[in-house]
Amino acid sequence: MAYVGGNVRSLETVKREDLNRECPDCGSKDIEYANEEFYCKKCGLVLD
Ligand SMILES: [Zn+2]
Repeated sequence: MAYVGGNVRSLETVKREDLNRECPDCGSKDIEYANEEFYCKKCGLVLD
């Protein structure tokens, strides 16, 4: 069951990181995660 707990913790980390992200170009916090990358939904910039 340790495997399940580790999986949950990983999801929480990703979610929190996503909330903290904002676009350095336009300042929008409307960031979407897709294909293992973060995209600004406002201007389309791919965040590192
Ligand atoms: Zn942007």
